[in-house]
Amino acid sequence: NEDKFKKVISHAKEYGYIFQSSEIYDGLSAVYDYGQNGVELKNNIRNYWWKAMVQMHDNIVGLDAAIFMHPTTWKASGHVDAFNDPLIDNKDSKKRYRADVLIEDFAEKLNQKAQKEIEKAAKRFGDAFDEEQYKTTNPRVLGYLSKKDEILQRMARSLEKEDLADVKALIEELEIACPLSGSKNWTDVKQFNLMFGTKLGASVDSAMDLYLRPETAQGIFVNFLNVQKSGRMKIPFGIAQTGKAFRNEIVARQFIFRMREFEQMEMQFFVRPGEELKWYEEWKENRIKWHYSLGFDQKKYRFHDHEKLAHYANAAADIEFDFPFGFKELEGIHSRTDFDLKAHEKFSGKKLQFFDPELNESYVPYVIETSIGLDRMFLAIFSESLQEEILTDGSERTVLKIPAVLAPNKAAVLPLVKKDGLPELAKKIIDQLKFDFNVDYDEKDAIGRRYRRQDAAGTPFCITVDHESLTDGSVTIRHRDTMEQKRVKIDTLIDVIGKEVSV
Ligand code: ATP
Repeated sequence: NEDKFKKVISHAKEYGYIFQSSEIYDGLSAVYDYGQNGVELKNNIRNYWWKAMVQMHDNIVGLDAAIFMHPTTWKASGHVDAFNDPLIDNKDSKKRYRADVLIEDFAEKLNQKAQKEIEKAAKRFGDAFDEEQYKTTNPRVLGYLSKKDEILQRMARSLEKEDLADVKALIEELEIACPLSGSKNWTDVKQFNLMFGTKLGASVDSAMDLYLRPETAQGIFVNFLNVQKSGRMKIPFGIAQTGKAFRNEIVARQFIFRMREFEQMEMQFFVRPGEELKWYEEWKENRIKWHYSLGFDQKKYRFHDHEKLAHYANAAADIEFDFPFGFKELEGIHSRTDFDLKAHEKFSGKKLQFFDPELNESYVPYVIETSIGLDRMFLAIFSESLQEEILTDGSERTVLKIPAVLAPNKAAVLPLVKKDGLPELAKKIIDQLKFDFNVDYDEKDAIGRRYRRQDAAGTPFCITVDHESLTDGSVTIRHRDTMEQKRVKIDTLIDVIGKEVSV
């Protein structure tokens, strides 16, 4: 799986999907640029989400709020006080760690030890092996697994009570029992705010301290009444927004999974107080169906219901995806109560209420939020699409099976040879198709090599122009996934391709 992840990263670079930011200056950590294919895939994912959320719901509208917001926003939202990661430095290695991640790594090590024992036993017992039974009865496996649970629980308790001294003590105990960083020389644990600060205005005295927004949601909350009034929206209704968010993440590994500058696609759905849990269930269902609609194996997704809730939530779940490094959060669905709107009422002194004509009363609505990282969605799609196949003749091919609706180029037009008028006809075909789709052109190398290149770049269709095309007005269309080839008339191409690539 580590191999698979490395392949994903190098393939993304080689085919113009993702580059390290400022690479010629040795890069900027946890910041990435999207290349010529990446930007198309990213736009297509964003549109696919927008269509499903805004276009398909007559009670959801869009918004595009600014990245800069009044600084009081972040006091009201709780980000100034509570958007922290616990950090610890190692005095010997001079390395900085997130304390919770360090402890989770210890726990994972114990888990791996348990898994090794299980694998060994499975080999020994062969077909007769019952993994569930072994896990719950073998003392050594039980020991590792219960120790793992114990340290995770102690960490959760200490973090909740903000008992940072105990978090440090736990790390020190674990370092002795099971060395990970190879050192015992730790500093105290300190809370570190994840927001990026900046200044608005030029003069030193009057410049205002600002933050780059760490989430897009607050732009929706502060505009709740503007949208409700100008759009004459009735509850329940939603506001959707996509845009950049910024977090000074400390543990920034795992490629575009955790970035310092990333993009979110969020929707806040405003409902009557008391009806929020019904809508919460409804949105969980709706969102998982959206993921399933892309056609990947449904086993790759799972819900993780939160037991420990954030201060603003009365129910929360993640949709997790099986990334090359295991199941991790892809999207969050949160029942945020009236926490945000009430907080903005308090800090702004303005009422943020809805008059409900059916109930004949005014109230602060409750909110269900769906929040997904566009870049994480990109990584899920890209890593799941990248496949190595052994063909019937024994040869191998690398193919990027991006769902056709999301693929950067929908087709590539390939003249069989670079002469006899074939390139000219190919370009004519492109002129016909380009109003409807992105189409690539390639005339270099043997046709088989070109097919492989388009397979690896994720193009769902190759259209080959040959000498017969000049007389019979037909071309060969080859399907990326099945590699099936068919002869079709040039003027039917728009329909043949359109059927497969439209939402
Ligand atoms: P995590 O626990 O992974 O840090 P989170 O719970 O802080 O995520 P939310 O604040 O709920 O995440 O943000 C909603 C979504 O935004 C996440 O589900 C994820 O897809 C995306 N997201 C959050 N932080 C990042 C990041 N640093 N880089 C890329 N995407 C992110």
